[in-house]
Amino acid sequence: MGKNDFLTPKAIANRIKAKGLQKLRWYCQMCQKQCRDENGFKCHCMSESHQRQMQIFGQNPDRILSGYSEEFEQNFLELMKRSHRFSRVAATVVYNEFIHDRHHVHMNSTQWATLTEFVKYLGRTGKCKVEETPKGWFITYIDRDSETIFKEKMKNKRIKLDMVEEEKQEKEIQKQIEKAEQLKMPLESEENSKQPVTKELNLESGVKIGFTLGGGNVAKGESSNNARLVFEEEENENKKKNEEKENSGRKNALEELMRKRRR
Ligand SMILES: [Zn+2]
Repeated sequence: MGKNDFLTPKAIANRIKAKGLQKLRWYCQMCQKQCRDENGFKCHCMSESHQRQMQIFGQNPDRILSGYSEEFEQNFLELMKRSHRFSRVAATVVYNEFIHDRHHVHMNSTQWATLTEFVKYLGRTGKCKVEETPKGWFITYIDRDSETIFKEKMKNKRIKLDMVEEEKQEKEIQKQIEKAEQLKMPLESEENSKQPVTKELNLESGVKIGFTLGGGNVAKGESSNNARLVFEEEENENKKKNEEKENSGRKNALEELMRKRRR
């Protein structure tokens, strides 16, 4: 280590960086004002415009703080996506790039007191893969966009597979139904031979009711008697009306019954 180390490009770069970081302290986020040094910053804080800004901040400090935090995070991740999308990179490297923009949201205006705290937050919320090494924190951007696309693809694949599986199952079920039907065949034909008998019985009862209503034959069973009573009542009422209408009404009623019988 010689005296000339002080003038090496690396040493100069380090001093510039340090100065840059030092300057961050003299930045007023509310006024977006960069001051040259401590003295300049003190002067700025005494100014009327700064006092006005601080009043606004005082009215809703939480909202303003979370607003800056959100913006800081968003811009930081944007930079990660733009410059380090597919690489594992030291958090300090990204941060130095980030603060290169004079009007970046300054970290001391956010909810995070240190870069480490912010990096841990990124890891905790799954926005970056983070790991602590002897050389400091390293972060890897998690590409939500391509991850989403990948997941979407996998989902579609799964759906297709499910559909194929469902079709197979349906075919299998159909086969089983057909088999079962073949086995059932003899039983069903027996049932079929029984059915016409019940139909005939139904027809017979229909005929009986028909006769009771039409001809006034005495029929067994309460229901047919009731039907006759209703009919007689109707007849009495109809007598008051003219005969022709009554007859045609009867005809129609009979025709209706005949039609029902045929069915
Ligand atoms: Zn200010």
